[in-house]
Amino acid sequence: MKSIIQEDNDKCFLCGGGCGLEPLDRHHIFSGSNRKWSEKYGLTVYLHHDKCHIFGKNSVHANREIRDKLCAYAQKIAMKYYGWTKEDFIKIFGRSWI
Ligand SMILES: [Zn+2]
Ligand SMILES: [Zn+2]
Repeated sequence: MKSIIQEDNDKCFLCGGGCGLEPLDRHHIFSGSNRKWSEKYGLTVYLHHDKCHIFGKNSVHANREIRDKLCAYAQKIAMKYYGWTKEDFIKIFGRSWI
């Protein structure tokens, strides 16, 4: 499913930069057992592989605060887009981030 969070696939969602410095990875915003729902509902963004995705100190996988912020942001968009209440969201994803 195409992302409902980000239209561009040639820019990093976190820093806005292009792929000149580093390749961009497709990140599933809700991971683990929710990865399949991220895929199904288009809750994915592109991120610089090293700096913004996996290893950087402000990357979504290394920085819990940034990861949770992105989850909250995506949850709000998904609820609006699909017409879900918070309870609907929790039924699918197991918890709420907002
Ligand atoms: Zn970036
Ligand atoms: Zn990821």
